[in-house]
Amino acid sequence: MNRRSGISLLDVVILILIVGIIAAILIPKTRLQKAEQSLVKCRAQMMAISDAMLKFYTTRGDTSLLNIGETGESEDTTAGAEAETTSTKEELKPHLFTDDTTLLRPYLPEEYSFTCPLDGDPYVIIVRDSIFYSISCPNGEHGQVIKGQATWNE
Ligand SMILES: [Zn+2]
Repeated sequence: MNRRSGISLLDVVILILIVGIIAAILIPKTRLQKAEQSLVKCRAQMMAISDAMLKFYTTRGDTSLLNIGETGESEDTTAGAEAETTSTKEELKPHLFTDDTTLLRPYLPEEYSFTCPLDGDPYVIIVRDSIFYSISCPNGEHGQVIKGQATWNE
């Protein structure tokens, strides 16, 4: 009986040690994988904002212009008339970048968040009229996109 209880205590100690060792091996690995996944997702999201920014710029925020060329609407009977309407629209609305996420929202997938998947911190979007824009992750190592160029590709 004495021996039995001694063994079971030893069993428990060994079990705790084994579980501890396995956890020590696995936890950093999954943590690393999670960090890696969120890095990849974060960068893809920043590129998506950059694409949305360029679409916003070329359409001057008018999402209906996104379909130009795809759907030949009945209005543009001649090429001349089309060019005329385009130039009129250009005069009315200058090309601008925007840091207003609600304006960029229509150019992004439905399930989209303007936050880093690692910790949910919002992206920092800096815009200077039609000259400059940058999208930065608050987690510095995730990088930033400056005028469509990703810093992690440099
Ligand atoms: Zn990030």
